[in-house]
Amino acid sequence: MRENYTIGVDIGGTYVRIGAQKNDDPLTGFEKILRESALGDTSPIEGIGAFISDYLEKNFPRLNIDAVGIGFPSTLSKDRRTIYHTPNIEGLDNSPISDILEQKIKTPIFLEKDVNILFKWDIYNKRLPEKGIGLGIYFGTGIGNAITINGELLIGRDGIAGELGHVPVIGGSGMCGCGNSGCFECYASGRRLVELRESYFGDTEIRDLFSEHRDSTILKEFVEAMACVVATEINIFNPHFIILGGGIVNMKDFPRKLLDEYIYNHSRHPVPSGGLPLYYSDDSDRNGVLGSIYMARGKLNVADNTRS
Ligand SMILES: [Zn+2]
Repeated sequence: MRENYTIGVDIGGTYVRIGAQKNDDPLTGFEKILRESALGDTSPIEGIGAFISDYLEKNFPRLNIDAVGIGFPSTLSKDRRTIYHTPNIEGLDNSPISDILEQKIKTPIFLEKDVNILFKWDIYNKRLPEKGIGLGIYFGTGIGNAITINGELLIGRDGIAGELGHVPVIGGSGMCGCGNSGCFECYASGRRLVELRESYFGDTEIRDLFSEHRDSTILKEFVEAMACVVATEINIFNPHFIILGGGIVNMKDFPRKLLDEYIYNHSRHPVPSGGLPLYYSDDSDRNGVLGSIYMARGKLNVADNTRS
């Protein structure tokens, strides 16, 4: 139990979301603001600092704050205190952002890759057992990926494990947001879906694509490409559970059954394809903020246990 408020922040390419929680009370003070207006148009690091300070001043003046957890759409250093690379937000890269924000806000600041935060929150929220290997694959603008082993995030030697979207496709083409070409993201992401709409379904709003064209060969091939991405990781890890999420699988009339079938087809037979433990993430605006709070509290508990 934590007596003070913990703050969660979810920095996205388009929106910034923030909220606070005390004990197990419901989330309070939730705000969702366009990134440009939340962070201003000067340095985004100064913008984030000013945004959090103003939020605390407005909502929780004179109250103690335990910690601030922040999710970034970025690769992070192994110690989770420096941002390496952020494809969709300029001005954040190679900055020791925890140190800078702790000086300004005078509260412990904990960072994590946004998809890791979402995946850990989904495991907790769905009450899945942490034991074993878990895979999270989130199809949004890009492809988010998180891997847990007995509840611990796999982060790799340099901190950037789980970049499934940037696995190269043999013979692949197209420039990827990471700077390489022909990555999985060039074939199975929101960015690709936008390209397909422009090329083939110009009269349909993006939100209606699956309602109006789910039986077209073009969209079936797109769904199969998503399945190939998922099956790649299934065939490597033979996981205990897989959570699929992100904006695409939550679009109106998205064919989840077809995706499940294609994943089954492309997974190795007879196992792990038989009885694949597939789950779908609930698409809530608040999950990133709740997950950031959950992550920050977890790190505070580790720090408390280390001290005692
Ligand atoms: Zn890439």
